[in-house]
Amino acid sequence: MEVPPSIAIIGGGPSGLALARLLEVNGITDYVVFERDQSSTPGPNRQGGTLDLQRDSGQEALKRAGLFEKFSNELARWDAAYFHLLDSAGKTIANFNNTLGDRPEIDRLQLRDLLLESIPQHKIRWGHGVKFVERKPGDGNTVGDNGCIIHFTNGSSATGFRLVVGADGAWSKVRPLLTSASPEYSGKLYIEGKISHNNPSYPIAHELVGPGNMLVLGDQKMIAVQQLSDGHYRVYFALDGPEDFYKRVTSVDADPSKATEEMRSHLLSTNEFFANWTPNLKAFIENAEAPFRPWPLYFIAPEKVGWDRGVAPGVTLMGDAAHASTPFIGEGVNCSMHDAVMLAECLIGHCGNNTTFTHVEEVKLEAALAAYEKNMFKRGQDLIRRSCESGRRLFSDNAGPLVLQMFSGDADSEPVEFANP
Ligand SMILES: Cc1cc2nc3c(=O)[nH]c(=O)nc-3n(C[C@H](O)[C@H](O)[C@H](O)COP(=O)(O)OP(=O)(O)OC[C@H]3O[C@@H](n4cnc5c(N)ncnc54)[C@H](O)[C@@H]3O)c2cc1C
Repeated sequence: MEVPPSIAIIGGGPSGLALARLLEVNGITDYVVFERDQSSTPGPNRQGGTLDLQRDSGQEALKRAGLFEKFSNELARWDAAYFHLLDSAGKTIANFNNTLGDRPEIDRLQLRDLLLESIPQHKIRWGHGVKFVERKPGDGNTVGDNGCIIHFTNGSSATGFRLVVGADGAWSKVRPLLTSASPEYSGKLYIEGKISHNNPSYPIAHELVGPGNMLVLGDQKMIAVQQLSDGHYRVYFALDGPEDFYKRVTSVDADPSKATEEMRSHLLSTNEFFANWTPNLKAFIENAEAPFRPWPLYFIAPEKVGWDRGVAPGVTLMGDAAHASTPFIGEGVNCSMHDAVMLAECLIGHCGNNTTFTHVEEVKLEAALAAYEKNMFKRGQDLIRRSCESGRRLFSDNAGPLVLQMFSGDADSEPVEFANP
């Protein structure tokens, strides 16, 4: 008979699901995942892009989870670890293809499905968005219960957990138990669109980006393009701007198609944006399909990543919940999956595998969390710092050489020439 869950994982993203799977394969099965989505079918706003998984973090998590073979043979796009860097005049700065094999791409949705399918389905409680988590008044922290009451937006609540893990992303509802830190706006945003096979810009995307990624740098702005597994391209127009840029530019309550057209005209209207970019690159904006989607980018200040272990016994965070970062080094998901590996390793190391957590001694559990957090804080802070530095370079006036410096060692010494637009 299955015991009631004693580990609550809040959030079924890459970090939460990776942890669930790692617990499962190590015989720790008394966990449950609470996810706010209603089902595994993502809504129209959550189709996701593509992620590259690094050998020592994302790939390592899949290896330990027993999922690497399926990933490698059926899903990983090994030929997509290819990266083309250009300037706004369309001139190639460099391309990077000698890292081929180290950072294969996978669609975010494929990664989610891979992890989801590896966990018994009854362990995921869909439609359980957490509203807030509170501590029982008084000495609620008794054997088998860390004293947390999890309140859900659907009006229900859950309690009686030994361990609560917040893996609920940048706007974590678990985080306030541990720290007052919260994400701050970076001053930069992405506007996302799509180039499908029949789009007039598809051939040029295919020529410039191929199966991988392209970054076009210039005048404190950027266009990023990446191919997904079905062959279509995801484009991001990146710029400095206020957090509510999209709302300011588009009419209040405009329908998404109308708002897209307003934003498109705005981005093409002046040299402040993309008006003076070379025609084939500007065409990505002219042709990208509606609806556009704004992504204001946030990060937690690195010095605010961390807390004293004694603050909230039996509670911890993973992934963006702990160390939300801007995406300028493309490592957020890798760091998050690395967290899952470390947390599972520390729990098993201190508390044992093939066990139920209800009766784990508090001192052992806290030692496991302390060991995990010591490692995670450092990696999270490092991720955010490196991403901030990368953002500074990507959006500078002199972006090309500065970004190239960052990649030195990875870049081909003789950049391969491409047909420029
Ligand atoms: C525009 C953009 C591009 C990016 N590109 C890359 C990239 O190329 N490479 C890379 O490595 N990283 C990238 N990242 C970062 C990466 O997406 C994150 O670091 C990674 O997804 C974090 O995983 P996570 O599991 O911690 O959180 P998330 O992926 O945010 O998952 C959180 C989960 O929790 C659920 N949830 C949220 N709130 C609640 C709640 N209250 N109750 C219950 N469930 C909840 C969500 O529905 C979701 O399933 C990018 C981020 C952005 C914004």
